[in-house]
Amino acid sequence: MDKKVGFIGMGIMGQAMGANLLKAGYGLMVYNRTRSKTAALEKEGARVASVPGEVAGFSNVTILMLTGPVAIDAVLEGDQGLLAAVEPGHVIVNMSTVSPGYTITLSRRLKDKGVRLVDAPVSGSKIPALEGTLVILAGGEKGLVERLEPMFLAMGKKVVYCGEAGSGSSMKMSVNLLLSVMMEGLCEAVVMAAGCGLDREMFMDTVLSGPLGCDLFKIKREMMANREFPPQFPLKHMEKDLRFVLETAKEHGVTLPVGAKVARLYAAALEKGLGEE
Ligand code: NAP
Repeated sequence: MDKKVGFIGMGIMGQAMGANLLKAGYGLMVYNRTRSKTAALEKEGARVASVPGEVAGFSNVTILMLTGPVAIDAVLEGDQGLLAAVEPGHVIVNMSTVSPGYTITLSRRLKDKGVRLVDAPVSGSKIPALEGTLVILAGGEKGLVERLEPMFLAMGKKVVYCGEAGSGSSMKMSVNLLLSVMMEGLCEAVVMAAGCGLDREMFMDTVLSGPLGCDLFKIKREMMANREFPPQFPLKHMEKDLRFVLETAKEHGVTLPVGAKVARLYAAALEKGLGEE
C-alpha cells in the first residue's frame, strides 16, 4: 500500500496520530476545520488542505478522526467535501468513535460510490496516541485491514480484527462502557476512602499493588498526586459515547443497569458545563 495518507481531524488524537505517521515515513496531507491546529504537523512536513475534498487527490486512503457523525457528515458532504472528490476504490478509515449502526449505514452509503470503509476506532487516550501505543479495533474487509496494518502499527501497538464493518465500533462501545464504569468506580472509591479518613496516596498504592492495579489507574494516580488534570479524553466525548453505547445495547436487547446510570451522571456533568474537562 502507498506510503501516503490523507488525515482529516487534527484534534487531541489526530495531531498525535498524524505525527506518528510522519515519523514512520508516511507522506501526509491533513485537513482540519480550524486551520491553526494543523500548524504543528505542517512544521514537521505535512501538507495542509484547504478543504476536505483536496485530501482525496493526495492519497487513496483517508483517515477520519473527528468528534462523531455530525462532524463526519460535514467533511464528507457538500461541493468541497471528500465524497465529491474521491475516485472509486478510495478507502476511508474512520477512526472516530461512532455507533455500529452509523458505521453500517455509512459503509452502505460509501459502497454506492465505490468507496470502501474500514471502521477502526482506538482504545487508548492522548498518551498512547503520542507514544504510538494505541490498540486499533478494526472492522471491514479482512484483506483490506491486513493491507492497512503497517499504517495502523505506525500509530498503535496492536490491531484487533473484529469482523465486518461495524464490528470495530461494537468493540469500541463495549470497551468504553467498561472504561466509564471503571472511572466512576475509581472516583467513588477514592471519595469513600477520603471520607473514611484514609490517605489518598496510600489508597491508590493499595489498589495498584493488588489485582485491581491497571495502567488506567496508574495514569490517574499520577494525575491525582500531581493535582494536574489536563484534558485527554474530554467528558463531552464519553457522554456522547455512552449515548451510542445505550443506543447499541437497545438495538441488541442488552440491558446495562450500571452503564445507564453512569450515562446519566455524565449527562448531568455535561449540563454543569464540565464537557471540556
Ligand atoms: P477533539 O480534540 O475534540 O477533536 C475533534 C475533531 O473533530 C477536531 O478536528 C474538530 O475540528 C473536528 N470537528 C468537530 N465538529 C466538526 C464539524 N462539524 N465539522 C468539521 N470538523 C469537526 O477530539 P479527540 O479527542 O481528538 O477525539 C476524536 C475522536 O476520537 C472522537 O470520536 C473521540 O470519541 C475518539 N477518541 C478520543 C480519545 C481521547 O482520549 N481523546 C480516545 C479514544 C477515542 P475543530 O478543531 O475545528 O473543532
